[in-house]
Amino acid sequence: MYNIAIDGPVGSGKSTLAKMLATRLGFRFLDTGALYRGVACYIKYKNIDKIDEQSINKIVNELTIKIKFINNIQHVIINNLDFTAQLREEDISMLSSQISNYKSVRDKVLLLQREFAKENNCILEGRDIGTVILPNADVKFYLIADEKIRATRRYLQSVSSENISYEEIFNDLKKRDFDNMHREIAPLKPAKDSIIIDNTNMTIEECANLCMKYINKNKPFKD
Ligand code: C5P
Repeated sequence: MYNIAIDGPVGSGKSTLAKMLATRLGFRFLDTGALYRGVACYIKYKNIDKIDEQSINKIVNELTIKIKFINNIQHVIINNLDFTAQLREEDISMLSSQISNYKSVRDKVLLLQREFAKENNCILEGRDIGTVILPNADVKFYLIADEKIRATRRYLQSVSSENISYEEIFNDLKKRDFDNMHREIAPLKPAKDSIIIDNTNMTIEECANLCMKYINKNKPFKD
């Protein structure tokens, strides 16, 4: 199978780019952050009073995580509960970032991601795809962009029912990036063989066009 890895910090355009490339190439794509967000939704749903590694390990043991695509929308189903509608809420962003530090959580979603890549020509986007999940991916992109631009993108995408300011989004983004880059397990960093793209001044189409040039260079399949 042909596998493309896209990593990068919050708001760097990973999932929009992954969707666009998937459409152009006729590939599947997987938003791996949604898996961590799904686990966070389940933890919120369980309403446990203390969120620490020990209590999370216990919950993770009893989880069955499924990914389903319905009308081209990725659904995350945990223990038969579909959390898709809540995935993008800001408290879930922060909680998913916190629990993504825990080994039990990362181990739980690792196999799911690798199986998806084994079974499909696909694009996986996240934080550790090029470094940990798919070290042998055919092409790896690492997206970066100015942090104010990234916060603006997140602000414009924020769930309209949420009463959240640009400043809160900006501060949350900085914290999540810092935590993701400095955690012990699978920190966010470019793989040695990643193509680094700064898309601060690019439209998503321009960014996709540039990626397509790299993909076309090393493509073993015909259009
Ligand atoms: O990409 P997204 O913002 O949806 O990811 C939510 C959180 O999940 C991130 O802040 C990060 O902590 C975690 N994550 C991760 N590894 C991935 C994808 C996401 O640790 N491959």
